[in-house]
Amino acid sequence: MYVEDFKIRCDKCNKMLTADRDFFDKGSKFCRCGNTIFRSPSQTLRICYNCKCRIIYKEEVACPACGAPIAPDNSVLPDSVKEEVYRDANEILDTKFVREGDVERAKILFKSIIGYKDAGACAKDCDKKIADLKYSIVYYKAGVKVISAREMYRDACRTDYAGKVEDAIILLKDASQIFSTIGMYEDSLQRVDECNKLITEYKATAEKFNKEKEKKDKKRQRYEFMKKMKIAGMIALGVFCIIMWAFFKYFV
Ligand SMILES: [Zn+2]
Ligand SMILES: [Zn+2]
Repeated sequence: MYVEDFKIRCDKCNKMLTADRDFFDKGSKFCRCGNTIFRSPSQTLRICYNCKCRIIYKEEVACPACGAPIAPDNSVLPDSVKEEVYRDANEILDTKFVREGDVERAKILFKSIIGYKDAGACAKDCDKKIADLKYSIVYYKAGVKVISAREMYRDACRTDYAGKVEDAIILLKDASQIFSTIGMYEDSLQRVDECNKLITEYKATAEKFNKEKEKKDKKRQRYEFMKKMKIAGMIALGVFCIIMWAFFKYFV
């Protein structure tokens, strides 16, 4: 028996489908008949006493594989089957890159054998794990923003470009806000401080760059003005010379 063996029944065409990652991660699955089956909290796992088929359904149904009637709950299952379910659930949690959907699957398995060993406590742990996974994704995304901001800042310092520093500040503000929404997770609060410190530092740099640019602009303006004055002066001198030349030629 493998952990992907969950079966769901389409309530429109009555066909049995495999409850795969779509069903657990996205919470819904398309049936070929055009129906969408949504995962609901009231759905439970029934295990066929006869062939051990696993069905996720709301009502008591016959086993889709062998046709044997399935009990309304799994309490009548022999311990050997419960042990198998218990082992499968732990196996899912032991895999390297566990996703939210995987933990959901394990939780359904544990919940289906509550009363057997510590299955009840394990199901509760799954809830905590799911919350942690959600936080970790958010935490990771905010972390990536900080890294990008730092890279942007380094680039900006090479080119003295204030605009890029300002973009980095926007990223940091985003990251800081995200970290503050997951407050108690890991070192999120420290990360908020880190972001705010960087924002202060970057703002000072942006201001410095802006001032330098202003200075340079003024210098250039002055230089261009002087150049124009020089040309005007030369033209005036030229005109004066021609007049003098004409004067001397015709009147002297
Ligand atoms: Zn269908
Ligand atoms: Zn069966």
